Amino acid sequence: MSDDTIFGKIARGEAEANIVYEDDQCLAFRDLYPAAPMHILVIPRKPIPRLCDSGEEDQSLLGHLMLVANKVAEEQGFGDQFRLVVNNGEGAGQSVFHLHLHVIGGRSLSWPPG
Ligand code: C5P
Repeated sequence: MSDDTIFGKIARGEAEANIVYEDDQCLAFRDLYPAAPMHILVIPRKPIPRLCDSGEEDQSLLGHLMLVANKVAEEQGFGDQFRLVVNNGEGAGQSVFHLHLHVIGGRSLSWPPG
């Protein structure tokens, strides 16, 4: 599957990012336009465009992404108060079509989101 998105390029080491964590399955880096004091994106190395494009075979990978989000929030000092967001599809606000978890914290967050 080809992945010409900026996140695909970051995952392949072809574009720069402020990386805070990486392993063989995923990486986490600072959002270029942070919406909060902590705004980290966790992405799989596998080029899954949207969450709805994942399948049973991705079960372990998806769980891993959440555990990495947990670890990153802890390392950034927001381990007990943060929000995870996955925008799935353009209508839900997704603009980069390589699956990513937003890990957001460091300010008060209202509900429901806009
Ligand atoms: O969920 P959505 O697809 O809208 O999120 C994309 C995120 O990627 C945005 O928060 C945007 O600020 C971030 N971004 C980035 N670096 C880029 C392009 C977008 O961190 N080069």
